[in-house]
Amino acid sequence: MQKKNFESKKLFSFDRSYSAEVFIKQPDKYREIENLSNFSEKIISTGANLSYSPLSFGENNLSILLKRFNRIVNFNLKEKEITVEAGMTFGELLSFTLKHNLWIPQIPGYPLITLGGAIATNAHGKSCAVDGTIRNSVKDILLYHKKNGWLNLSSEENNEIFELTIGGLGLTGTIINITFRLEEIKNLNFLTYKSKVNSLEECVKKITEKSLRDNSYIYSWNMAENIKKLGSGIIFENVPDTSSKTELLEIPGVEKKNYFRPFMPIWNKFSIKLANYIFFILNTRSKIEKHENFLNVFFPFYGKESYFLFFGNKGFIESQLLIPKNKINDFFDEFRHQFEIYKPSITLLSFKNMRGSQELLRFEDNKICLTIDYVNNNNSKKFMREIDLMCEKYEILPSIIKDSRIPKKTFEKCYKNLNVFKDKLNRFDKERSYSSSASQRLEI
Ligand SMILES: Cc1cc2nc3c(=O)[nH]c(=O)nc-3n(C[C@H](O)[C@H](O)[C@H](O)COP(=O)(O)OP(=O)(O)OC[C@H]3O[C@@H](n4cnc5c(N)ncnc54)[C@H](O)[C@@H]3O)c2cc1C
Repeated sequence: MQKKNFESKKLFSFDRSYSAEVFIKQPDKYREIENLSNFSEKIISTGANLSYSPLSFGENNLSILLKRFNRIVNFNLKEKEITVEAGMTFGELLSFTLKHNLWIPQIPGYPLITLGGAIATNAHGKSCAVDGTIRNSVKDILLYHKKNGWLNLSSEENNEIFELTIGGLGLTGTIINITFRLEEIKNLNFLTYKSKVNSLEECVKKITEKSLRDNSYIYSWNMAENIKKLGSGIIFENVPDTSSKTELLEIPGVEKKNYFRPFMPIWNKFSIKLANYIFFILNTRSKIEKHENFLNVFFPFYGKESYFLFFGNKGFIESQLLIPKNKINDFFDEFRHQFEIYKPSITLLSFKNMRGSQELLRFEDNKICLTIDYVNNNNSKKFMREIDLMCEKYEILPSIIKDSRIPKKTFEKCYKNLNVFKDKLNRFDKERSYSSSASQRLEI
């Protein structure tokens, strides 16, 4: 097989910060994965390529696109277990399991994300204070590695590689299929309660208290357009509406639309202010309780993709931080100080609570999760550089899945278990056959 026989395509990271010309192949047979993996020197598995940073492609690498691996391999209703192929999307999985009132509760916020991509990034959902990250629902994994062959991974079998693969950014090989432990879901309808907050501190205090209640999903939307309003906003709490009759929903599983991306960004200081104002008024003047369906609650960006496209060709930068609760007030003080100096352009600022423990490369801990979207400009970047220093100072964990610009030094200081991950991975695969633009830049 010649590399020239492969389709070559320019792939972009979701935040548009990185692009690379890559070779792509979309196998649909197990044997094809073996052949392709053996053919190319540097490879990486690719799900939907919806990661904000360039995790699923690398310059001149072969990207093995798992799209056609989207079949249900086994379903055991009695044991509440399902084995599915890794290229299946959350939309496709849920369209099947919800008919049986079953699901996994760790659902990242977009239905076209693949299960393989979610495992390799150890994704979390809205209820991460209660349900933690997706690793809590994984029973076993079938992995193909070009040097080590076919491996069954679970806590009983090949445990070390099992642990490395969950949150391992595709560096341990290609996840072929996954067996999930499913849970019952009470209702597909939700009641969303809204409550107003006036500061960052008040918001975090309320989210911490509320999120520990079972079966409710809590997150916030906070203004960050100017220092006076910084932190004022709304806390949303989704609670299953057990009094209503569940109606089955079609969950979108495949991309259907062609999106238009304006060349020039639409988000600027004025449009952000206007959008914030409208959103705030709409949500504070309407009833404090509203009915929402499963799709709106779990996939809030579905149908609202223009939000990302409005950043234009230059894209945006997302930062996600896990902040220790006992250091968060010091962080806020410094955040406000730097905010006044640099005046970054922030389109989204949101908090949730997370439960878990930080191991290997995983974005997981018992900390407060802060998500910020920035317009990609000089002021935002300078401000983010200050945030990097705060990460190092306050033991904050920045996400390398979301932030494509994290300096290597900050990454190395904040990921205390990085060397454990690297040592184990190098023992498993000393030639390091799998890599992406992000893993190369960060020298993982
Ligand atoms: C709108 C939106 C909302 C999001 N919301 C959330 C959220 O709420 N919570 C959250 O945690 N994340 C969220 N994310 C991030 C997303 O969950 C991850 O980036 C996820 O990895 C994307 O899945 P993907 O199928 O696009 O994977 P890709 O981006 O294609 O790949 C991601 C990583 O997984 C690896 N990989 C993919 N498939 C395989 C495989 N079969 N075998 C081995 N490795 C593989 C790749 O090599 C790469 O390292 C969101 C992303 C978007 C765009």
